[in-house]
Amino acid sequence: MRTYKNIVIGGGITGLSFANFAKDCMVLEKEREVGGYCRTIYRAPYIWDYAGHFFHFKERESKRYFEKVFVDQGLISKSKNTKIYYKGQLIDYPFQSNIQQLEKEEFIECLCGLYQAEQHRDRNQNEYGSFEEMLFEKFGRGICSKFLIPYNEKLYACNLQNLDTDAMGRFFPYVNFHDVMNHISGGYITSYNDTFIYPRLGAAVFINYLSGKIPEDRIRTDCQVRKIDVRKHIVYTDDTEYEYENLICTIPLDHLVNLLGKEYDKDVFSYNKVLVLNMGFDKPSIDRTLDWIYIPDKDINFYRVGFYNNILGMEELSIYVEIGYGQDEEIDVEQAKRDTLTNLRAIGVITDHILVDYQPILMSPAYVHISPKANALKEEIFKDLEENNIYSIGRYGGWTYCSMEDCFLEARALANRLNSKRI
Ligand SMILES: Cc1cc2nc3c(=O)[nH]c(=O)nc-3n(C[C@H](O)[C@H](O)[C@H](O)COP(=O)(O)OP(=O)(O)OC[C@H]3O[C@@H](n4cnc5c(N)ncnc54)[C@H](O)[C@@H]3O)c2cc1C
Repeated sequence: MRTYKNIVIGGGITGLSFANFAKDCMVLEKEREVGGYCRTIYRAPYIWDYAGHFFHFKERESKRYFEKVFVDQGLISKSKNTKIYYKGQLIDYPFQSNIQQLEKEEFIECLCGLYQAEQHRDRNQNEYGSFEEMLFEKFGRGICSKFLIPYNEKLYACNLQNLDTDAMGRFFPYVNFHDVMNHISGGYITSYNDTFIYPRLGAAVFINYLSGKIPEDRIRTDCQVRKIDVRKHIVYTDDTEYEYENLICTIPLDHLVNLLGKEYDKDVFSYNKVLVLNMGFDKPSIDRTLDWIYIPDKDINFYRVGFYNNILGMEELSIYVEIGYGQDEEIDVEQAKRDTLTNLRAIGVITDHILVDYQPILMSPAYVHISPKANALKEEIFKDLEENNIYSIGRYGGWTYCSMEDCFLEARALANRLNSKRI
């Protein structure tokens, strides 16, 4: 048996950030390498993440921290240029702020819908019955039916009535009638990722930085945690037992509950899967300025396509394509690849380009379904866990929608709290 003050399950950005700030820590990671969803794949000349992982910030102090890490690694700073492919036309994102770019009749329909929604609204954010209800009541039928509903159904791969009003938290681009009118007359609407930074060698640069600061014997890869004994404070892997004072879990919350041997309603923790197709072509991009495009059209199999080559300033077209699936849906990767190539041609991303290299990656879970039931059960579980010195954090441990910065900040705050905790 080995004993540590802190055992971390999962060597993604959350687990490694925690280990950077905490005392006496051991990280257990089931894969052969650390990084979780922040890994980067190098297949010269292409550099691919697990879907584009760009660094945007809510706190100036953390932005400075990340910039310092990346500055010697080829720091790219960008003001984002993102569009929506809508009826053969590219309009600016977010849709609801840029309806003046639609054909006149559609613009009037969306604007009137937004105005009427605002006139009839008499509820606060937390009083809507669901995410879908909130969308209709805040934005009106035009904006919802043209973009917000089809796009989010493609992404989340679920009925939007099952999601909580606040399912996207600060990442949802809210606007009201006044904002839109102001924007039409030249005013600016900000969003959480207007600007972002990115290391030239991909998101893994941050993972390498974090893991490089942890002693080698304090990270074990190829080491899956199979069971946790809450009462004895022991974690079991295939070959070793680890005793802990604090257990920090960054694995999906539903897996954690299974490892604890607890019973819960399996339908509560639902999520989508995202099939990411990284694709490298033989020719340059047709458009050299776009960072990514959102696609609400349900006849097109993917909901987003992003351009690594434009962000990295590379010659050859290098993209990631994201396709949403329900958690139990079967995926035919070859079919998805064929459909994707057809649809990339249909929307004008490729013409006679030849696919030179390609890699599919499945992210499961990708977007957890934040629902009132999941929120309630999560609070109950967290309370129970914390009484037993178990902390479930990160995007999947916290069963939430958050960025890499959020994971880093949450992990650092917990490490500082536990460092100063008196027994
Ligand atoms: C499609 C998509 C695009 C995204 N784009 C961005 C973006 O542009 N910018 C941004 O800031 N964020 C982005 N994110 C969010 C970002 O990926 C996450 O916030 C972050 O990677 C979560 O890190 P984590 O360490 O909490 O979890 P993970 O990366 O999932 O790490 C958990 C680790 O636990 C390990 N593990 C699981 N089970 C066990 C076990 N039993 N024993 C041991 N180890 C185990 C896993 O192998 C994994 O390494 C995106 C997410 C998705 C789905």
